[in-house]
Amino acid sequence: KNVADKIAAGEVVDRPLSIVKELVENAIDAGAANITVEIRNGGKTYIRVTDNGCGIPEEETELAFLRHATSKIATDEDLNKICTLGFRGEALSSIAAVSRVELITKTAEAKTGVSLKIHGGEFFEKSATGCPDGTTIIVSDLFYNTPARLKFMKTDSTESTLIIEFISKIALAYEQIKIRLINNGTILFSTNGKGDKYSNIITVYSKTVGEGLIHITGERENMSLEGYISRPDFSKTNRKQQIFFVNGRSVSNRIMDMAVQEGYTERLFEGRYPVAYLFFKIKPELVDVNIHPNKKEVRFHQDMEVKNFIAQTIKTGLLSQQA
Ligand code: ADP
Ligand code: MG
Repeated sequence: KNVADKIAAGEVVDRPLSIVKELVENAIDAGAANITVEIRNGGKTYIRVTDNGCGIPEEETELAFLRHATSKIATDEDLNKICTLGFRGEALSSIAAVSRVELITKTAEAKTGVSLKIHGGEFFEKSATGCPDGTTIIVSDLFYNTPARLKFMKTDSTESTLIIEFISKIALAYEQIKIRLINNGTILFSTNGKGDKYSNIITVYSKTVGEGLIHITGERENMSLEGYISRPDFSKTNRKQQIFFVNGRSVSNRIMDMAVQEGYTERLFEGRYPVAYLFFKIKPELVDVNIHPNKKEVRFHQDMEVKNFIAQTIKTGLLSQQA
């Protein structure tokens, strides 16, 4: 069992970022309104995700760490209408196989919470504990029992940068959830969960975003766009501040890259890229989402229509600013 878990772990967990991603997605699936993510040393020594979601009933806590244990799918039919981020039931078992995990959880119905410790996939300790409703998972000493993988991790700052970028995008995508990020004891940001995209952009990216982003909106059959884009003279030398969401998920997509440049035609110098936070929605049947868990590329069935629509919405937005 342990070997199989360690092998499965290689697919789900390849670096601190993948752990953060799985834990945060579980917190979202749990219906949390509040999520705190804390990391130390790029997540290598310490990752904590705390949520105020539904919690795990005491009798299901061990089960949650078994491979292919998921509470999210009960029947084959459920597979056809997945609306949760997780459904494979592999994440917690994989994470536990290659680190030291502590789970602290309480449902609203339970009188007291439970703490469960698992080291290298072996159950270690279980006890009752006082805690608020919701779930905390602490992952320490990642890959302590798989030295080969330990060596493949990059520097603390490389690993933490990936996590910070990921959580920043999650904070924008889930504007109704309060998301707080703490790195080496410092609070990097804390969103207010009030659903205001612009205020979240400022909260999360304030240091780098220029003043006065332009708000754009557009709608046409099967698609809609809301975005915040910079004036042409606030462009950058790279695309790092072009952040795209398709149907609520952060993605990268060449058609959207091109649409942004096209929307600014004649207004940009060579090699300059505007700041653009785009929230694009399209009928789900008109887009393929790569199902590989670590890829976030999407392909539109009608490339040109999407590109023209986005470029046009940007042009209109820029013109209205000049008036
Ligand atoms: P999956 O998300 O694919 O179901 P995981 O291994 O990520 O599988 O989690 C296993 C199970 O543990 C979940 O199905 C869920 O029942 C429970 N769980 C994990 N994290 C949380 C959480 N933060 N809050 C409530 N339940 C959780
Ligand atoms: Mg999951």
